[in-house]
Amino acid sequence: MFDLKGKVALVTGGNGGIGLGMARGLASAGARVVVAARNAEKSRAAAEELARYGSEPVVIAVDVADEQSVQSLARETVARCGRLDILVNNAGTNIRKPPQTYAAEEWHRVLDTNLTSAFLCSRAAYEPMKIAGGGKIINVGSMMSIFGASFAAPYGASKGGLVQLTKSLAVAWARDDIQVNAVLPGWIDTDLTRTARQQVEGLHESVLRRTPAGRWGVIEDFAGVAVFLASAASDFVTGAVITVDGGYSVQG
Ligand code: NDP
Repeated sequence: MFDLKGKVALVTGGNGGIGLGMARGLASAGARVVVAARNAEKSRAAAEELARYGSEPVVIAVDVADEQSVQSLARETVARCGRLDILVNNAGTNIRKPPQTYAAEEWHRVLDTNLTSAFLCSRAAYEPMKIAGGGKIINVGSMMSIFGASFAAPYGASKGGLVQLTKSLAVAWARDDIQVNAVLPGWIDTDLTRTARQQVEGLHESVLRRTPAGRWGVIEDFAGVAVFLASAASDFVTGAVITVDGGYSVQG
């Protein structure tokens, strides 16, 4: 039920953080992983690590905010791996400051990287998934898909939009046997939040206090949910939004 042998999984931002955590899960279940990100050195290191699971990982450089780059990513994936079954829209960025201080360019950079990218990658994956007879798309949202944050207006808008995009794609592509779901991580220890901890005073302590599990998440927390949403185990699950947050979002 959880076997991914013979499947090809494209993970944007798969060279580190949550994307790598998911890529490890997918590779350990037998999928051939395509690591798609900008930093070639990080991607090479991730691929070397993923190779230990047995299938031969592929590295493809992409800027997910760039339409042409995404188009060639999908083409190259199919050319090199022969198919595309699983897409994880994980690449993301944040610029933290008060809403009134964002330049329009900064707003667009966050929206393009976090939200438009997921649309572009999903659009590019649709045809290959149809040819493969179905597919799985996993979008990585955030607690800010649900909550407001004074220091992250464009990020919150992008992650809220990602949940609605998930639902629309799920409805549109259900008859093509393509399931589209979202994972909303709580506070996870990665490069992204290491800078947040430097920029937002008291963040580390408030996350520990507010999270019922009493700890920050780690990237290993994302392997299982990725395998579930990428495998036959979730064939009747679509348009769902799954929190992986140690209880953060249900704390009263
Ligand atoms: P990281 O900074 O570790 O990872 C971000 C990844 O995105 C990197 O692999 C980066 O690779 C890639 N990336 C960024 N911009 C682009 C781009 N333009 N084109 C291609 N790849 C890009 O952070 P996380 O692992 O924490 O974040 C992963 C996802 O999880 C994001 O969507 C984030 O919003 C979300 N998230 C994280 C939370 C957390 O607590 N850490 C909480 C909630 C959500 P490269 O630089 O090589 O391109």
